[in-house]
Amino acid sequence: MRQVDVIVVGGGLAGSLAAAMAGRAGISTALIDPHREFPEDFRCEKLDQLQVSILQKTGLAGAILPATTLTTEMWIARFGRLVEIRPVPQYGISYQSLVMAARAAVPPPVRFIKGKVDQVELGPERQRVTLHDGEIVEGRLIVLATGLNNNLRESLGIVRREIAHAFSTAVGFDLKPVGRSGFAFPALGYYPERSDDRLAYLSLFPIGEAMRANLFAYRDLRDPWMQRLRDGNAADLFTVMPRLRQFTADCEIAGDIRLRSVDLVVTEKHRRDGIVLVGDAFGTSCPAAGTGTNKVLTDVERLCNVYLPAWLATPGMKSEKIAAFYDDAVKQASDAYSASRAIQVRSLSTETSLSWKLFRLCRFAAQYGRGRLRRGRALVGVPLGDGAA
Ligand SMILES: Cc1cc2nc3c(=O)[nH]c(=O)nc-3n(C[C@H](O)[C@H](O)[C@H](O)COP(=O)(O)OP(=O)(O)OC[C@H]3O[C@@H](n4cnc5c(N)ncnc54)[C@H](O)[C@@H]3O)c2cc1C
Repeated sequence: MRQVDVIVVGGGLAGSLAAAMAGRAGISTALIDPHREFPEDFRCEKLDQLQVSILQKTGLAGAILPATTLTTEMWIARFGRLVEIRPVPQYGISYQSLVMAARAAVPPPVRFIKGKVDQVELGPERQRVTLHDGEIVEGRLIVLATGLNNNLRESLGIVRREIAHAFSTAVGFDLKPVGRSGFAFPALGYYPERSDDRLAYLSLFPIGEAMRANLFAYRDLRDPWMQRLRDGNAADLFTVMPRLRQFTADCEIAGDIRLRSVDLVVTEKHRRDGIVLVGDAFGTSCPAAGTGTNKVLTDVERLCNVYLPAWLATPGMKSEKIAAFYDDAVKQASDAYSASRAIQVRSLSTETSLSWKLFRLCRFAAQYGRGRLRRGRALVGVPLGDGAA
């Protein structure tokens, strides 16, 4: 039987970052995941400025950012027109590479155990996990970072409450220019041409040599257009976004196209002795809102910088002690922002009432004005703010 202080169950982004931070703080830790090499998976594929600022607080930015592809400018198109060239940094990276970069930052004293946890036993002092092959690991605290897998939560009586089924659909693919070596833009945010398109936006950004596309839609996977898109024909993009062609010119979808429907889920009855839930295991977010990674990073940063050292410095691991993490003001603000942003982006993209139409028009005018101002200032050499909306 192995004995450690902290047992991290699940080595996706949340678990790998938590193991890296705990290990670097000298805490005796084990990280358990079925895959030594994290498999290809379609999830978050770029980090924005806010996410990088939270990553910096984890002390792991230096280990992860070199694996990303940095762009410093993003073209913004609304209603098929270029409204702004925004000077914002974005860091493109496949989810697999992101997790593997986090894993590479886990220091050697942390034990990586390849396996699936089948059973968890909790107590006010000691916790025990049993792996599928019968191996047992004991520790003072379990960090549950098992993402969407509900088995362990369910076995513990932790309730997964679905607040929205199939809230949005995310589509990921590579877009390749035809007859040219590259696209005119470094990165592009393309917002829908009409609100009844039921699209949030298309984001094009480089990862290495490839131009990656993430499309977020409020359409069911059975929607006929989604079904056609699944076949990987770029012409289907232009049937719903005809003016996109002005930006991309002739292009084709290269390689696999991934479609995932996303439910919004929160957990209840999770305040237990000996266990803390982080990342998607605690609650999911809408990919169109782009806040899932903020939640993961915030959870791990607060847990490992603020709470873990304090909890381990005193005896016991009762739920009253762990409650401080769930009640943390920064974590609660991050979760609340993520939930409200999901609703806001959906309303902004799909509502057809006059007030929402006016709101969209004002937004378009404001961005267009800001874009013109920025270009004018650049011509006369006045320094520019980033102006992120
Ligand atoms: C399609 C899609 C697109 C997204 N796009 C964005 C985006 O653009 N921006 C953004 O900010 N966020 C985005 N997100 C959200 C973000 O990617 C997730 O919030 C994040 O990946 C969650 O990480 P995690 O570590 O909690 O879970 P995961 O990465 O799912 O990790 C869970 C790990 O637990 C392991 N595990 C499960 N059960 C067991 C067990 N019993 N024993 C041992 N190990 C186990 C699994 O094998 C896995 O390795 C997106 C999500 C999806 C689904």
